[in-house]
Amino acid sequence: MTKYIIVVGGVISGVGKGVTTASIARMMQERGFEVDVIKIDPYINCDAGTLRPTEHGEVWVTDDGGEIDQDLGNYERFLGKSLSKLNNITTGQVYRALIEKERRGDFLGETVQFIPHVPNEIKSRIKKVSEGKDIVLIEIGGTVGDYENIPFLFAMKSLENEIGSENIAYILVTYMPIPSHIEEMKSKPTQLAVKLLRENGIQPDFILCRGKKRLDEIRKNKLELSANVKSENIISMPDVVGPGTANTIYVIPLDLEKEQLGEKILKRLKLEKKKEPDWRDWEEAVKRILVPERVIRVAMVGKYLDIGDYQLTDSYISVNEALKHAAVSNNVKLELEWIDSKEFEKDKSSVEKLKMFNGIIVPGGFGGSGVEGKIYAIKFARENNIPYLGLCFGLQLAVVEFARNKCGLSSAHTTEINPVTPYPVIDILPEQRNINSKGGTMRLGAYAAILKPESRVGNLYCSVELNNCDKKFHNPLEVYERHRHRYEVNPGYHKVLQENGLVLSGLSPDGRLVEFIELPDHKFFVATQSHPEFKSSLLKPAPLFDGFVKGCLN
Ligand code: GLN
Repeated sequence: MTKYIIVVGGVISGVGKGVTTASIARMMQERGFEVDVIKIDPYINCDAGTLRPTEHGEVWVTDDGGEIDQDLGNYERFLGKSLSKLNNITTGQVYRALIEKERRGDFLGETVQFIPHVPNEIKSRIKKVSEGKDIVLIEIGGTVGDYENIPFLFAMKSLENEIGSENIAYILVTYMPIPSHIEEMKSKPTQLAVKLLRENGIQPDFILCRGKKRLDEIRKNKLELSANVKSENIISMPDVVGPGTANTIYVIPLDLEKEQLGEKILKRLKLEKKKEPDWRDWEEAVKRILVPERVIRVAMVGKYLDIGDYQLTDSYISVNEALKHAAVSNNVKLELEWIDSKEFEKDKSSVEKLKMFNGIIVPGGFGGSGVEGKIYAIKFARENNIPYLGLCFGLQLAVVEFARNKCGLSSAHTTEINPVTPYPVIDILPEQRNINSKGGTMRLGAYAAILKPESRVGNLYCSVELNNCDKKFHNPLEVYERHRHRYEVNPGYHKVLQENGLVLSGLSPDGRLVEFIELPDHKFFVATQSHPEFKSSLLKPAPLFDGFVKGCLN
């Protein structure tokens, strides 16, 4: 029988539920259990594909083509395994499925109502993911007290009634503010969050208290009394990122182990661990984060938007994390600077500042804002032998730059930006041409690429992936990476690009789509149509990122 761990958030959003859930999942995996994690997003969108990334954070793409909240990325990075799009449930999906079933006549004669149909649909989705799993963690998005997550809390309670309360544990991740005018940690908001949870029939088994500082005994006792949770199950989770901290989220499972949370959860669920956790590799990696040998500086040239007074760096979280993973495995600290490419458009000579960096990245992107600035940056990297990594849009614009400046096609462009360019070196995928609906309609998920033997990309994958095979990796020259795009290198221009020295180092199995490019006489100039950042984890960095960091070190 599958056991469940339900994680809910209290007091504020952005309290760190995702990373906490991912850490607990890893702690369970370390104890030999088959673990899976579900993210519930209470919004009406059917997936995250149509959400604004600058507001909501990055869209995570799964192997099976799901466009999902970035928390799934945390789960995959911490568990080191691929999850399915079924691991995400949104309100939109639930209602869409119910309405489709109703129209099909599946409920003929019945009145379709919130109770029982909505919780039943939620539970059936959870059960599908649970097949063959020892432990499933379910993170409920939003904050207790939101109208939107009531149906999901109701469904959890209903699941509990079905399977018995010894098989389901509730964890409340909450926030303990320290208002600056009193400089005292306050527990009242958490007390109220517990009260709100109880209004939904749920008594938390554990309270994880996020905050600037550790919880002291006085506040622990206060919470024990007001929430009726034993003080041993009230756990401190002080900030791990920011001044005076380790500055890495990867210490969280190690910190939670010190609090014996893993053992306490197993006791609550009446489970015996299948093996002792072995954190040696993880600890080693964390040590390398804390005491790196060298420092490299990388410029990420993209389009950045502010939300009010704040910049949402979450929109490139996977690229950041993949860079960190590669930096850790090379024992370096990576200083990342975000540069708005529009800056180079205003003053062309400002691109010279890129000389101060060991490497340049142009990440994925959509639309025309700052495109010429990105192209200047790529040209600068190519001409000045500065390591360059292009991701998706970063490949497309590298091809545009190469076509313009090396192939004599001076007005070459992508038809995404200039639909009437005389040289459409990047053009819409034929299968995308007639799609008008949004959400789940791009080229999405894992696709194969055949790598050119002896190419730099081929060598990188051979050296890294061979030690880290996943089940899809049949042959050293066939790799699978995840995609999310509508445009591609126009097959009509493969020849001219190659004749002028661009190496197409990875193509789709039918040879039609360019998946990887590189320049041979360059320190490191590699780009991919895919997003290898989605398959990177702390103990298994993505090959291209590893190669890029090594290139920066040279
Ligand atoms: N805008 C480009 C396309 O749709 C690139 C997308 C991306 O970088 N993910 O093809």
